[in-house]
Amino acid sequence: MSLIEIAGLRKSFGSTEVLRGIDLSVASGEVVAIIGRSGSGKSTLLRCINGLESPDAGAITVAGEALGTGEARLRALRLKVGMIFQQFNLFPHKTAGQNVMLARQVVRGHPRAEAEALARRMLNRVGLGAKFDAYPAQLSGGQQQRVAIARALAMEPLALLCDEVTSALDPELVGEVLGVVRELAAEGMTLIMVTHEMAFAREVCDRVVFMHEGRVHEVGPPAEIFAEPRTPELRAFVARGH
Ligand code: ADP
Ligand code: MG
Repeated sequence: MSLIEIAGLRKSFGSTEVLRGIDLSVASGEVVAIIGRSGSGKSTLLRCINGLESPDAGAITVAGEALGTGEARLRALRLKVGMIFQQFNLFPHKTAGQNVMLARQVVRGHPRAEAEALARRMLNRVGLGAKFDAYPAQLSGGQQQRVAIARALAMEPLALLCDEVTSALDPELVGEVLGVVRELAAEGMTLIMVTHEMAFAREVCDRVVFMHEGRVHEVGPPAEIFAEPRTPELRAFVARGH
């Protein structure tokens, strides 16, 4: 059974139809890259899966539960699906450890000691066990993004959505963040990642989804998508060397 099931998903902003009928199933443990030109609807798709946007039509099911429109259902869904953004969105006046603990304490109402133990484990997992008491300003961009990943993991999500998580980083810091994502993939985490890192997508992902004008234009294993694109739109995209 698929962990995430999307059928006939549509979303407009005003008169602009951004998602024009998306069908996509993601199996548990699968790693899916979403590629496509700027404006093709990639972020909107992730935001719908995470419940940050509500679809105009279609259905999204996570672990067998339909994404409803009520606030309570959306909150429940957000607990199941973690999301990491291009901007790390850490609280600047809180330490790395406090940032990781916070979501857990507030959202799940866990006691402090338990949240702290979990936060330490998650920071260890992203290689930042020694940075529990560091403030975001004392960390590099790559380290801040790894704290953001630890924060998402602290919710023990069924799947993780990554939206261009290395795009705001200096080139020399990209590798450490992709390394953490690669480890999560190897551990069996279900990942949907919007990325411009084509070499990474080719190497780590099970499937690549090429979005074009709000639709899934092509989908397949990386070897096919990159080496044998079928449509002129994907051929042009690949040729531009994204
Ligand atoms: P991508 O991530 O592929 O670059 P997006 O999903 O961010 O694409 O955006 C697709 C289109 O939807 C763009 O034209 C963008 O301007 C528009 N859009 C996205 N979010 C909003 C919003 N909240 N309000 C109005 N337009 C939006
Ligand atoms: Mg985007």
